[in-house]
Amino acid sequence: MTNRLPTNPLDAPLSAARGVGAERAAQLARLKIHTAGDLLLHRPRRYEDRTQLRPIADLALGEAATARGKIVALGTKRWRAGSKSVFEFILEDGTARLHCRWWNLPFMERYFHAGDEVLVFGKPVSLKPRTLDHPETEVVEAGEENFIHLNRMVPIYPLTEGLPQRWLRSLVWRVLEECEPDIAEPRPGLIRPLADGPDSSIKMPEARALPSRARAIHLLHFPEQTGDVEVARQRLALDEFLELQLEIRRRRKTLQANARGLPCAGDNRLIKPFLKELGFLLTDAQTKVLREIRRDLGAPQPMRRLLQGDVGAGKTVVAACAALMALESGFNAVLMAPTEVLAEQHVATFRRWFGPLDIPVELRTGGRKTSNIQHPTSNVEGGGLSDSPTGNTLYIGTHALIEGGFAPDNLGLVIIDEQHKFGVAQREKLVRKGRYPHLLVMTATPLPRTLGLTLYGDLDISFMDQLPAGRGRIKTFVRAADKLPKVIEFIRGKLKEGRQAYVVYPRVEESDQGEIKAVIRERAKLEKEFAPFQVGLLHGRLGPKEKERVMAGFRENQVHILVATSIIEVGVDLPNATVMLIENAERFGLAQLHQLRGRVGRGAHESYCILVADIKTEEARQRLKVLAETTDGFRIAEEDMKLRGPGELLGQQQSGLPPFRFGNLSRDGALIERARRLANQALDTAEKS
Ligand code: ADP
Ligand code: MG
Repeated sequence: MTNRLPTNPLDAPLSAARGVGAERAAQLARLKIHTAGDLLLHRPRRYEDRTQLRPIADLALGEAATARGKIVALGTKRWRAGSKSVFEFILEDGTARLHCRWWNLPFMERYFHAGDEVLVFGKPVSLKPRTLDHPETEVVEAGEENFIHLNRMVPIYPLTEGLPQRWLRSLVWRVLEECEPDIAEPRPGLIRPLADGPDSSIKMPEARALPSRARAIHLLHFPEQTGDVEVARQRLALDEFLELQLEIRRRRKTLQANARGLPCAGDNRLIKPFLKELGFLLTDAQTKVLREIRRDLGAPQPMRRLLQGDVGAGKTVVAACAALMALESGFNAVLMAPTEVLAEQHVATFRRWFGPLDIPVELRTGGRKTSNIQHPTSNVEGGGLSDSPTGNTLYIGTHALIEGGFAPDNLGLVIIDEQHKFGVAQREKLVRKGRYPHLLVMTATPLPRTLGLTLYGDLDISFMDQLPAGRGRIKTFVRAADKLPKVIEFIRGKLKEGRQAYVVYPRVEESDQGEIKAVIRERAKLEKEFAPFQVGLLHGRLGPKEKERVMAGFRENQVHILVATSIIEVGVDLPNATVMLIENAERFGLAQLHQLRGRVGRGAHESYCILVADIKTEEARQRLKVLAETTDGFRIAEEDMKLRGPGELLGQQQSGLPPFRFGNLSRDGALIERARRLANQALDTAEKS
């Protein structure tokens, strides 16, 4: 056995050999920089063009600029018995003088001396005298290293306490000089680097030649001309997307190689009577999707399908038909919902639908686990038609089912409702429970295409782009908080007509006590305001029994107004509720508001969504106006992503994505597409050889 040393210098820890002592190493560790490779991926937070220093005399008010000069005077003023202070130095560059001040940071005086050459970056807060408050600074040291720090585009890094910008920049320079040749192409031959010369066979503009990874990393730190940084970023982002795509493909390949699809396509004997009694005809979109699902359920590999359909498109019926196909084929099915409220609602709906067919529908939630989990008739392993239609069961539960290790025998199909509330990891865990059951995930979050490809690259996607006919319209209004009395008057009118209303307050945190107190207070207020109408209250801290009691009251129209946190965001379906009042609407994401709005407009009555918001900025108003202008979930999602980034759109619980250091999901559509193509190409090549 040989002593195993890291074979790649990039994996070697940054050590004294590179001038990194224990103290510096600890500081770097706080930035998660341990190895040379980590250091080289430490992305500058901005760049400073030090070929174009601004003469102090030309500094303009409020305009960020870099200047350079000599300290001609400095000192600290203290007052209030030394508890307050201002440290100041005056810089002179031959054109004018510049005052630089730091409030209440008296230790700053340790870092500067009269005669020092200093670079300062900031926005002047006054021109008489010219003053910068808390500028970024760098003392210019005499010596050979100035070609790193001056007369060029200079990287400015995120730092940590005690770590000097200049020192870090020098380290990056040295490590880069030493290690650049060791930076390999992660997939040699796949991305053809720029150095090969222009490739005329590449016609697509998004496939434009990018530098090699090594060159990209060099340019990331020390760009030579404008545009270099973006080109470098694109290359590094492409590498990230490519790894993700390859991983997704690999996962899928493994599944295809190892898993046999259970025969779950059914024979229509339950679906036929079900559809006959349903009371409405399926939309063309629903029929189309069901055809795709049936094909998957009969295929030799397990289904992995995402059903995307805007709120109210009727995904539940599709889930019911898919479950019936599995049940017809002699398998059990599981339907999972993100909240207990929604699980209970599904149980009520499915019992109504499946009762006449003699199919048992059982609730399984974290809160109410019963021991008789297995249905006595869970039958022959491997399926085959059972002769009784009640031989199998539909289990409905929350995601607590996954954690609880619930795994019925003979599981043919798993349906996950409102997928966006589940992380990818959770999804995987669930499917492993059985012997590769079929998987259908449903979401109303209209993901922009790029995001869909990235997150769900391992799934086939079906779109349901049509709402059932005969829906009332939803009118959306944005109102300032001081118009609330008028809004209340309006709602009272609707209640008098026999309709019901939701009033929603933003949920800051699931566990936020203050938040729950606030809804309890609001409920009391609304109770007085709306008497004699009944006001119910729903929030995450209620027990399952209590939640169900409140929802039942609302369903039966004994409760007329339901005050809730955004717990009702997903899936609740009650056609008589026609008013959705959302308070503090500015605190919600657009996609989430769209979901909330989807709780109304489910019957034939005209519905209303009223967004009451504390609108201080024009931007906030514009944002909410998007909702008033359109009910197109895709457009709303795109806007939301532009404004808030993909993380917000997916919600905090969406944990499936790796963090991208360079990739930007909302802007890099072309790169994501390219990564997909490259991943396909790579796998094709791998197969041929
Ligand atoms: P979502 O896609 O948001 O989950 P649901 O499945 O809750 O929507 O359906 C919304 C409402 O539309 C339900 O009351 C459902 O019964 C009804 N619905 C579904 N499909 C149709 C259809 N084809 N025609 C009429 N109503 C339908
Ligand atoms: Mg739904």
